Amino acid sequence: MMFTLPETHQMLRQTCREFADKELIPVAAQLDREHRFPAAQVARMAEMGLMGIAIPEEEGGAGLDTLAYALAMEEISRGCASTGVIMSVNNSLYCDPLWKFGTPAQKKVFLEPFASGRQLGCFALSEPGNGSDAGAARTTAERHGDHWVLNGTKAWITNGYDANAALVFATTDRAKKHKGISAFVVPMPTDGLSLGKKEDKLGIRASSTCNLIFEDCRIPLESLLGQEGEGFKIAMSTLDGGRIGIAAQALGIAQAALEEAIAYAQQREAFGAPIANLQAIQFKIADMAWRLDSARLLTWRAAHLKDQKARFTTEAAMAKLAASEMATFVTHQAIQVLGGNGYVTEFPAERHYRDARITEIYEGTSEIQRLVIANGIFKEYA
Ligand SMILES: Cc1cc2nc3c(=O)[nH]c(=O)nc-3n(C[C@H](O)[C@H](O)[C@H](O)COP(=O)(O)OP(=O)(O)OC[C@H]3O[C@@H](n4cnc5c(N)ncnc54)[C@H](O)[C@@H]3O)c2cc1C
Repeated sequence: MMFTLPETHQMLRQTCREFADKELIPVAAQLDREHRFPAAQVARMAEMGLMGIAIPEEEGGAGLDTLAYALAMEEISRGCASTGVIMSVNNSLYCDPLWKFGTPAQKKVFLEPFASGRQLGCFALSEPGNGSDAGAARTTAERHGDHWVLNGTKAWITNGYDANAALVFATTDRAKKHKGISAFVVPMPTDGLSLGKKEDKLGIRASSTCNLIFEDCRIPLESLLGQEGEGFKIAMSTLDGGRIGIAAQALGIAQAALEEAIAYAQQREAFGAPIANLQAIQFKIADMAWRLDSARLLTWRAAHLKDQKARFTTEAAMAKLAASEMATFVTHQAIQVLGGNGYVTEFPAERHYRDARITEIYEGTSEIQRLVIANGIFKEYA
């Protein structure tokens, strides 16, 4: 077993790190404060091939793999967690299922421009009445002649205000419950689709989140992605991969907080010496560092398994659970190391703390990850 990254991956990691240092860290606080979509930064990331990292080059992507995606996601999120989630939704929640389940005609219109980063996608599974219980979708899709007609509301849609297309999950047969859910690719804007208010969030404030409201929204029959009734399966397999991206986002947020805490502890003096000399502070840094590294190894393992085309559902859930809870812990500790300065917006620590929290909620809460892990374990030992 090798713990050294391949050279291509090391180079990508370094390039993303430098980009984050130069072009994300200096603006992240302002983007957060102004709730502003990082348009210039996302355009640069498109040029760097970061918007469709694991999508083949002939489909507009960078032709790399999931490990490369995880490394890039960590570095981008270390610079700006909002930019990280924008990138993650386009890569793993939108482009990945389009690549796996799209027809050649769908890929031409709905994959290539998105994987190359010229356009941006979003993923609409949750609804106001159901998030964890995604199989209970109430949004309907009815076939009328040569069209599907969508009605209902999808909630909490990341990139909603900025996207050029949405992958939408709607029920074509409610009696079949989750087996009646189908997936559709919908251009944005489109008649019959309106956006709800921009959510005012605790963290990742530079990414937009809103409801998508469908009122007799007519889309062509060819908008169906995969087979009718296959939507829930598409959503669950997409989220397996997405969780690796969110785990990597959590790693990046925690890495930023750890670096800030270390630098602060080395220069801040109390009782005549740097606080880094205090064992109480050293223990905090140690606890932050080992937790971060453990979560990183779980994330890399999940990415490696996906790249090997092995089963990785349980491992992706473990990575996401470990990394998100670790990020909450590490960012909390970072504030403690900074004392009062950790509590004010002049220092990034409070933003890292706010940004970390969402990683325990979206793409399956920590409770849902525990269910997925337990399910995998009991199957293994059955
Ligand atoms: C900022 C943000 C961005 C988001 N982006 C997207 C997006 O792009 N696309 C999208 O489709 N969705 C998105 N979501 C929605 C997100 O995935 C859901 O919020 C999440 O899945 C939880 O669903 P819920 O909010 O309905 O909570 P609920 O499902 O109502 O859960 C409430 C609580 O009950 C617990 N719970 C529920 N069921 C169980 C169970 N069986 N066992 C144990 N505990 C349980 C949960 O863990 C949680 O603690 C986003 C959410 C936010 C806040």
